[in-house]
Amino acid sequence: MAQARLTIDLDALCDNWQSLNALSQTETGAVVKANAYGLGVDRVAPALAKAGARTFFVAIAEEGAKLRRILGPDVDICVFSGHMPGDLPLIRDARLVPMINSIDQMLMHVEGLPGHPFGIQLDSGMNRLGMEPAEWSALRDIALAQKPRLVMSHLACADEPDHAMNRRQLQAFVAMTEGIDAPRSLAATGGVLLGEDYHFDMTRPGIGVYGGLPFSDAKPVVSLDIPVIQSRDVLAGESVGYGNTWVAERPTRVATIAGGYADGILRAMGPRASVWAGEHKCKVLGRISMDLIGVDVSAVDRMPETVELLGQHQGIDALADWGATIGYEILTALGARYDRSYLGG
Ligand SMILES: *Cc1c(COP(=O)(O)O)cnc(C)c1O
Repeated sequence: MAQARLTIDLDALCDNWQSLNALSQTETGAVVKANAYGLGVDRVAPALAKAGARTFFVAIAEEGAKLRRILGPDVDICVFSGHMPGDLPLIRDARLVPMINSIDQMLMHVEGLPGHPFGIQLDSGMNRLGMEPAEWSALRDIALAQKPRLVMSHLACADEPDHAMNRRQLQAFVAMTEGIDAPRSLAATGGVLLGEDYHFDMTRPGIGVYGGLPFSDAKPVVSLDIPVIQSRDVLAGESVGYGNTWVAERPTRVATIAGGYADGILRAMGPRASVWAGEHKCKVLGRISMDLIGVDVSAVDRMPETVELLGQHQGIDALADWGATIGYEILTALGARYDRSYLGG
């Protein structure tokens, strides 16, 4: 079998959620957008609900409708994109809580679904989603009279604790929401770690739950083991892979493993990446292909059946460094071709 095996440790994931929960005195939600950061919302969300999560966040209404079918009636499901044209039946039937981002969305919501729950998303400086201060001033009294479930905003630089933007956004959010009755939320994973000032009534961690930075105390959640298809000896001067980008300087034993960029193993990681054969670190040789990667197994005396790309020795943030990206992208890129299995939950 040449199918790589992706193992998702739901116990570690729930432990991470609990650890983030323990860092604040307020309710801890769970962000499960993008199929739970690629890990499988049908398994991740029930595990988190069992661990105690009661409020879930998704990016779009379609994800919310799917999540409602998975989790049943007893949780709140909030949608960051708010109420978009065409969303009405999904929001109504799945009892979603759209985070209203503009006066237009507000009008569409109250006209289409009078009395249906909603939240408010405010822009405190990131300029991505949410109402700006002027728009919010115009709508504020009308919106608050209808008792929004949550009033939220999002931090642009929370992974850099000393960034001046954090305080600026905190002040902007407080200025826009001081004294309101509705529950408030500002913090994702990074915001949870910034401390109590940022916690308000609800936190919304995602990446930390899935084992990624900036939550450096997170337990690793994913491991990825890739079968070795064949190995060979190459002589000094021979090359490996497309474009002959790697040329042997000395006799080298090369193993070819069954994964590639079609599986979300970023081609850009190239020769900075390594895998592990037992306790031996094996460098990637040459270019990562669509389905195959060559690795240096010269130091390995007994070839294991699989090598580890993610696991004990290296996690999503190591791969992110090699690919000049972030752990979030490593997770959400994980391919559909893996044999996925879940531990615990
Ligand atoms: C994705 C997202 C989160 C979760 O962010 P993490 O950094 O993964 O914890 C929270 N709030 C909003 C608005 C988001 O888009």
